[in-house]
Amino acid sequence: MPAVDTHCPYCALQCAMRLTPTPDGPLPLEVAPRDFPTNRGGLCQKGWTSAEVLAVPDRLTEPLVRDADGELRPATWDQALATVAQAVRRTWTSYGKDAVAVFGGGGLTNEKAYTLGKFARVALGTRMVDYNGRFCMSSAAAAGNRAFGLDRGLPFPLADLAEADAVLLLGSNVADTMPPLVQHLGPVRERGGLLVVDPRRSATAALTGDGGGLHLQPVPGTDLVLLLGLLHVLVADDLVDNDYLAGRTTGWDAVRGSVAEWWPARVADTTGVPERALRQAARLLADAAPARGGAGAYVLTGRGAEQHTHGTDTVSAAINLALALGLPGRDGSGYGCLTGQGNGQGGREHGQKADQLPGYRSIEDPDDRAHVAAVWGVTPQSLPGKGVAAVELLRRCGRDVRVLLVHGSNPVVSAPDARAVTDQLRALDLLVVCDVVPSETALIADVVLPVTQWAEEEGTTTSLEGRVLRRRKAVDPPSGVRSELDLLADLAALLGAPVPFERDPARVLDELARASAGGRADYAGVSHQRLDADEALHWPVPATDHPGTPRPFLDRFATADGRAAMVPVRAGRPADDLRPDAPLFLVTGRLLAQYQSGAQTRRVAALRRSAPGPFVELHPRLAARVGVEDGDPVTVRSARGEVVAPARLSRSIRPDTVFMPFHWPGVNELTNDATDPVSGMPEFKVCAVEVVSA
Ligand code: SF4
Repeated sequence: MPAVDTHCPYCALQCAMRLTPTPDGPLPLEVAPRDFPTNRGGLCQKGWTSAEVLAVPDRLTEPLVRDADGELRPATWDQALATVAQAVRRTWTSYGKDAVAVFGGGGLTNEKAYTLGKFARVALGTRMVDYNGRFCMSSAAAAGNRAFGLDRGLPFPLADLAEADAVLLLGSNVADTMPPLVQHLGPVRERGGLLVVDPRRSATAALTGDGGGLHLQPVPGTDLVLLLGLLHVLVADDLVDNDYLAGRTTGWDAVRGSVAEWWPARVADTTGVPERALRQAARLLADAAPARGGAGAYVLTGRGAEQHTHGTDTVSAAINLALALGLPGRDGSGYGCLTGQGNGQGGREHGQKADQLPGYRSIEDPDDRAHVAAVWGVTPQSLPGKGVAAVELLRRCGRDVRVLLVHGSNPVVSAPDARAVTDQLRALDLLVVCDVVPSETALIADVVLPVTQWAEEEGTTTSLEGRVLRRRKAVDPPSGVRSELDLLADLAALLGAPVPFERDPARVLDELARASAGGRADYAGVSHQRLDADEALHWPVPATDHPGTPRPFLDRFATADGRAAMVPVRAGRPADDLRPDAPLFLVTGRLLAQYQSGAQTRRVAALRRSAPGPFVELHPRLAARVGVEDGDPVTVRSARGEVVAPARLSRSIRPDTVFMPFHWPGVNELTNDATDPVSGMPEFKVCAVEVVSA
């Protein structure tokens, strides 16, 4: 096979790479970085080592079905799919259509994500479909929708950041999670304009040293108060962009009133961020804004700000701040969310969400239902209604949900309150997992279906800046492995679906294009052919001769009146707050050498050497109180469970907080499954714990 140009299998930066097959080498192919506007020839350690996942010794290469003795045994594809189809039919008869559910993933290609949503609605007829992107991007999506009428992670190319005088990064450690992105922040640092909000002095926060900018280190769970305080200072010091607010927004009066109670001393009291730093940050942002003659400024949020029970409101506060400075919808400035998962953007646009049809269409809107039903060749009446968000869907497993199909997700490791989730999954009548390796979730499944991955298949993903990218096949999959497009088409036929399902990725994208046409995430003009001709297509792309839309808000926002809607928000406390038996905050996050639930990266030797296991990062003062030294085992205990891991002492963390990376089983047994009332996103980022010497 010839070398192909494609993109990394991991995060949403989707670094460009060239894959050269090496039939006689120790690995099936060689990875080389490629110059591209987002990664500029850079790759992180995960990208460089990505070929190893193709050849892991425990790669799944045949279907497995659990037998009467409770053992997973090899089966033929016909046997495995028949087992699934029989269980689905039995469940329909006994419990109804909504007792069969689908749990998707933000790493699936656009073609697979679209097909999975269609499969749930057309072949299964179930309302119960949602996906792990609910854990990652949903609060920013909800806040973006209510402010701008559209959720596109970055509504501008990433390279624009380099021209700005200031960038405010809230709860995002890009230096570890997306290292090549840091190139775009270099010029901003040189101008002293990098502002990082993080309870830890993360690798990204450390970039603010030596005059690079400012690190604000708030108490976990107080980002929202900090943002209200920044806006308070802008108002009090008359630093807002009044012309922009009058011309491009609604709701400013209510928002201005809502920040009056957050004067700097009170904010300092609540967040632990000194008044002086708060004022300095507000001034730095204001001076960078075009209204005051600056080159431009950006406000960016990540999971640290979003994964809270008031995550949507926190993002709304970040957007309000950006709007008050006159940034969004302006060349050289803006607000954006840094999407995390590989296809976290495309995966949230085309029907994996409980309330959604392709193109960001609403499953509750009669016109949207009619449009999509016509493309699918079914009646609008046959489409089910809105289901429930991921956390609630998992809670229902073993109760009113009896069969669950999991695609590209490992909730036994990645879901909050993971021990309870594991029990719920074990209580199902049938758990079906499609994966490339025996993940922790696959190991408790009743049927495991081995599927193609990344370099073994054709398709598209959509990067964090809304650009649709081609993923290309470089090597043949192991024999016995099938594409999800293929197996879903077979399963749909076995279940008597009213229409056949497309198997060819290019034709699936053509169908997706028609289903999304006229929707907010409009892919009508996107095709494999155009992408193969190297066209840079940022959606919306409403026609085959449309050049794409890198900056969608320059003229108007996607709201009914074209203005951004400012929404007043109120501060809240974490759902699982400090108390005498749990006097410390636990914050979870990612490491450079691991990715998400670790199902892929924990199998890569070089990554295992760099990041061999979980640890508990704690301040030396706290360690002294607990009576442990660096490397000693400590027990971290929350209301839901406990984990033992070695202590890692660091002055980079607040003494009232401990940090654990979440790439290993067990860590999420500590986290709380309380969710944001608007987005359904769980509060991964903060919960109360006790820490003792183990
Ligand atoms: S930054 Fe993300 S996309 Fe780039 S190489 Fe690393 S994991 Fe892959």
